[in-house]
Amino acid sequence: MSTRDFIEKDYYAALGVPKDADATAIKKAYRKLAQELHPDKNPGNADAEARFKDVSEAYDVLSDTKRRGEYDEARRLFGGGGRAGGFPGGFPGGAGGQPFDVGDLFGAAGGAAGRGAGGLGDILGGLFGGASGGPRARSQAASGPARGQDVETEATLSFDEAALGVTVPLRMQSPGTCPTCNGSGAKPGTSPHTCPVCQGAGVTSRSQGAFAFSEPCRNCRGTGSVVDDPCPTCAGNGVTTQTRTITVRIPAGVKDGQRIRLPGKGAPGRRGGPAGDLFVVVHVSEHPLFGRKGDDLTLTVPITFAEAALGTTVTVPTLDGSVSLKVPAGTASGRTLRVRGRGVAGKGRSGDLLVTLEVAVPVKLTAAQRKVIESLAEEMDEDPRPQITAAVQAGGER
Ligand SMILES: [Zn+2]
Ligand SMILES: [Zn+2]
Repeated sequence: MSTRDFIEKDYYAALGVPKDADATAIKKAYRKLAQELHPDKNPGNADAEARFKDVSEAYDVLSDTKRRGEYDEARRLFGGGGRAGGFPGGFPGGAGGQPFDVGDLFGAAGGAAGRGAGGLGDILGGLFGGASGGPRARSQAASGPARGQDVETEATLSFDEAALGVTVPLRMQSPGTCPTCNGSGAKPGTSPHTCPVCQGAGVTSRSQGAFAFSEPCRNCRGTGSVVDDPCPTCAGNGVTTQTRTITVRIPAGVKDGQRIRLPGKGAPGRRGGPAGDLFVVVHVSEHPLFGRKGDDLTLTVPITFAEAALGTTVTVPTLDGSVSLKVPAGTASGRTLRVRGRGVAGKGRSGDLLVTLEVAVPVKLTAAQRKVIESLAEEMDEDPRPQITAAVQAGGER
């Protein structure tokens, strides 16, 4: 805990107790909040977790007489928040775990800015439940337009979809205005009332020596309004996690494990800023017939000895239909024929279809087949492997 923490954090507000609260009142407030906000009770709720930390930190200091004295002194000297100490950056609101943004506060003409108007973008850091390790920026200070967060998600595509390109719906979770209270944070039927301390300005002024300081109103945490009955859906935050489905076009030719960037499909920007980018990590399923080598498709096609010897035409499937291939007479097993442009769409040009011909040897023969093949063998009595034979003879028998 640093002096800076002391100056920036309002531990009394975090616990919801007045500055002159006695040890018993502080303990009581802490117990109640710690119970409500305990991570076991709020699994996966990042806001509750952040508040739980704030509350614990506040209690650590305020329950210790010596440290509480130091804290009070630091606040008295440095003005308790705002920019009095010349500290850069935003300053996290104590209670509520809702980061609030100094730039917004001072810019909000007439105050009474809706709850969440300033903090929303910051909370977006916790974004999109599914994305693991998503970027977080809880208290980024900005008064101008701010770009939305980049977001990462995953998609599983079939082999064909990956090769040909596909439009897929992606379900994503992101914070949005609470539908129950329309973002006011107040229980339906009630409404937030103007903060009596700052008269809705969200800012209070204080003079210290020759200077006048403006600082965010502690009573309303700079929002200009106070909620008596919090909205049950969003617990007064004005923001809930919402599921949205966006449709994205995955370009043709993506590979398994590839991370593709979809500009402007990430989290929305703040104050007119551009949206962030969406990164989709694609998983591509195997195909029962085709393989892939970069942009080329591979396919193994069995042919008979007779087809290989005499030549034939075989029709093979492609991703978008079929193609007929001329197998020349005297084709060796394992020979690969290239069909141009029938592979996977690549950058600039499409890949090729590589057809590997494999002579299939019958496992079982009928008596008639055996007879024919025996007479064929007799007819073709030349050595098919003269070099091997020569090598064996040169080495002698051993
Ligand atoms: Zn609500
Ligand atoms: Zn106020």
